[in-house]
Amino acid sequence: MGNSSRFDKLSAAAFQESKRVIPGGVNSPVRAFKSVGLTPLFMESGSGSRVTDIDGNTFIDYVGSWGPLIVGHAHPKVLEAITATAAKGTSFGAPTLLETEMAKLVIERVPSIEMVRMVNSGTEATMSALRLARGFTKRDKIVKFEGSYHGHADALLIKAGSGVATLGLPDSPGVPSSVATNTITVPYNDLDSVKLVFEKFGEEIAALIVEPIAGNMGVVPPVAGFLQGLRDITKQYGSLLIFDEVMTGFRVHKNCAQGLYGVTPDLTCLGKVIGGGLPVGAYGGRLDIMEQIAPAGPIYQAGTLSGNPLAMAAGFATLTLLGEPNVYEELERKSAKLQAGFAANAAECGIPSTINRVGSMVCPFFTETPVINYETAKTSDLARFNAYFGHLLDLGVSVAPSQFEGMFVSTVHSDEDIDLTIDAHREALKRL
Ligand code: PLP
Repeated sequence: MGNSSRFDKLSAAAFQESKRVIPGGVNSPVRAFKSVGLTPLFMESGSGSRVTDIDGNTFIDYVGSWGPLIVGHAHPKVLEAITATAAKGTSFGAPTLLETEMAKLVIERVPSIEMVRMVNSGTEATMSALRLARGFTKRDKIVKFEGSYHGHADALLIKAGSGVATLGLPDSPGVPSSVATNTITVPYNDLDSVKLVFEKFGEEIAALIVEPIAGNMGVVPPVAGFLQGLRDITKQYGSLLIFDEVMTGFRVHKNCAQGLYGVTPDLTCLGKVIGGGLPVGAYGGRLDIMEQIAPAGPIYQAGTLSGNPLAMAAGFATLTLLGEPNVYEELERKSAKLQAGFAANAAECGIPSTINRVGSMVCPFFTETPVINYETAKTSDLARFNAYFGHLLDLGVSVAPSQFEGMFVSTVHSDEDIDLTIDAHREALKRL
């Protein structure tokens, strides 16, 4: 299947060109639109809730750069912070006051974080948190959930959701089996399986890492008591609980998912929103653990561009905007309206549907089975999703080209945007 004609020109030519010099034509796999049988749109610009491709097509955007752009594209306050900072120099490899300000803000907002280290991506954050957990506990094994994506570090690329699920790839070649054997996977939302694993291997488990709301198998909320159960089990066995809040951090609540659910992990990984659209990750947590990181302690982790001034400025500006009154209430209101509109459309069109949502993370699945883990997420009719994706794009709405990703509502999506999106969704379902 090719793209419809209005998309076929400059983007198609650009893709032919990029494929000659970049693997698969893209710098991150799911961007290639391979799973939905289309060719990618090359973006020219973004402003507020809209993006415009190089053929001049404009879309209401719910990709938001895969989560970071919670205040929309090219927010004037974020741009102002970046340009003012850039004018003073882009990187020093020496400490700056901005880094301390950013650390203080993160500590103030995230309940479990007493000290924080900045890195350059979510992958770096989870990879570094794992090393820290292993160094701190002097244990090797880790536990993760099937269909959860924590970036592409070897130890975490086991039964990962997201792009690996979207492309139907097996666990990646290149991950040594010696590394994979130390990663134990269990089904999400299944405390009994977690208990069994800890009964067997508890004394060897350094950490359990979890997305407090799974966002890489579509959007899957934790069932009542699941996160607290993980807290209790890890504590009992002296293992660390790591919340991977790269996606949920500052997305679902001003105090992140841990604030929303009232469960306190030992370590937290952040990314996406805290970079305001620039490359950032961070990991933080209990003081006694964080003080083991070099140069305070022996566990090594470093980065030429870590704490980069432009990224700190963009992140600080974004978090400042998110600190204004009613921000999360408004995100909740608009996202609930979207969810209700989608549900009404599905009922009207007789399309089997389950629409999961937490705050501004929304995910319509093409199944009537309640989606509570990766197995149930896979009951969604993927062929139907792929057709729906193409129709939505035709109708001027951009969502991630994968059933296993959510939609991200931003503070600048207007009520009119939401209404237009509900209309486009209804029309897309009718065309299925
Ligand atoms: N953790 C989660 C929960 C994510 O969703 C992602 C990326 O989508 C990552 C980690 C990896 O972050 P990055 O792509 O910045 O390396």
